[in-house]
Amino acid sequence: MQDQPINIKKIGVLTSGGDAPGMNAAIRAVVRAGFYYNLEVYGIYRGYEGMINDDIRKLDSRSIAHVLERGGTFLKSARSLEFRTPEGRKKAYDNLKSHGIDALVVIGGDGSLTGAHLFYKEFGIPAVGLPGTIDNDLFGTDLTIGFDTACNTAIGAIDKIRDTATSHDRLFFVEVMGRDAGFIAINAGIGSAAAAILIPEKKFPVEKLIDRLKFREKAKKESNIVIVAEGGKSGGAQEISEKVKKILPTYDIKVTILGHLQRGGAPSSFDRILSSKLGVSAVEGLLKGKFDVMVGIINNKIVYTPIKRAIIDDKEVDDEDLRIAGILST
Ligand code: ATP
Repeated sequence: MQDQPINIKKIGVLTSGGDAPGMNAAIRAVVRAGFYYNLEVYGIYRGYEGMINDDIRKLDSRSIAHVLERGGTFLKSARSLEFRTPEGRKKAYDNLKSHGIDALVVIGGDGSLTGAHLFYKEFGIPAVGLPGTIDNDLFGTDLTIGFDTACNTAIGAIDKIRDTATSHDRLFFVEVMGRDAGFIAINAGIGSAAAAILIPEKKFPVEKLIDRLKFREKAKKESNIVIVAEGGKSGGAQEISEKVKKILPTYDIKVTILGHLQRGGAPSSFDRILSSKLGVSAVEGLLKGKFDVMVGIINNKIVYTPIKRAIIDDKEVDDEDLRIAGILST
């Protein structure tokens, strides 16, 4: 992490990797802060792919009108294989230079931030990263952009599933996003009175799940919803449901995979505010010479963490959350 003010006149902003609600609010904040500090701001479309293909346009205040409240990202996002190659990154660098762009704000997950770090090391283009991912799996911030909205969306969907589960005395396995991280599953599980929460970070043997379901049957619970994070150690919702069906053949079991609907929708008030604060802080960080960092919020304070740490260090799920979820599900 550098910490010497540098002379920046033009910045580029891009969204990369999976889209997350709040990305538009973050872009808007970067643009607004840029104008406030007399910078020119360029939108780089489709993430690193747009950097390589010179899909780069100067943004003005009209470009960011009415985007704060919209889901997705108006700059669009992409996964770029070419940026993973030195040749691809050289093309990207040449395009940035042809526009005179001196610094970058990269909004995305750990892959996107890895790209920004590598690019800085190779070409010295200062970058500040914003944690834009619904998975909440980045070290250096309590919460990532889009996580709160994704949890709200998941809980809203599970509420609806609960109605049919109760009407038919069904057992539902609901799969939520989070390939390597159980944050959405834990929050959605606590927020929707789940019977159990299965996450990638912790083992939850089928036998334990069966005991839990039998206990709840004795307690005359009207419905059972088990939340499963995709790609967990015990398999996805479909796989686990099949194992349970073999042991409890009389149960009426259904599976719902929430999938991409968790990425969509208007950002929650929390995500709008988080994204806005992070966007302004990214620009201010660049101007203060804080680059090759990710800006996050920890205990309600803006914190700049070296990107290297943000991508390498693991953000652990909170055992206390799991303990509480266990108490609530019995
Ligand atoms: P999400 O958390 O939603 O998956 P992400 O940012 O982690 O978001 P990735 O697909 O991992 O999503 O990364 C986005 C893009 O960042 C990649 O398509 C690639 O262009 C770039 N990138 C990722 N890893 C590297 C790397 N090691 N070197 C160069 N570029 C990379």
